[in-house]
Amino acid sequence: MSDCLFCKIRDGEIPSTRVYEDDDVIAFNDISPKNQLHVLVVPRKHISTINDIEETDTALIGKMFLAAKKIAADAGYGDGYRVQMNCGEKGGQVVFHIHLHVMAGARTAP
Ligand code: 5GP
Ligand code: ZN
Repeated sequence: MSDCLFCKIRDGEIPSTRVYEDDDVIAFNDISPKNQLHVLVVPRKHISTINDIEETDTALIGKMFLAAKKIAADAGYGDGYRVQMNCGEKGGQVVFHIHLHVMAGARTAP
């Protein structure tokens, strides 16, 4: 997707602070963190919303959670963190390339 913010971050066209990457996913700090740890886990493949996930993406979605687990543990929050994925405008989704919010630690924003 040429006009997708997270595809541009994936391709390095927009800077981000990357905290993890592998062949399938990248992860970077949220620009507007709600908790001390607030990382977005993004599949390299462009998928717009949860509703666009297909059967063939099953392993990829699992890898997003494995990345979330590793990121939380490496940041010292392995014993407690939240993951969240919003779906659709009405579900609070703003960027239409699926991403897991990985959040832990004290709140830093309302
Ligand atoms: P959503 O509401 O779609 O679930 O979450 C989108 C997230 O992307 C928000 O938490 C927002 O702060 C973050 N975000 C928006 N633009 C940028 C950006 O340019 N860089 C980074 N690192 N995060 C962004
Ligand atoms: Zn995209």
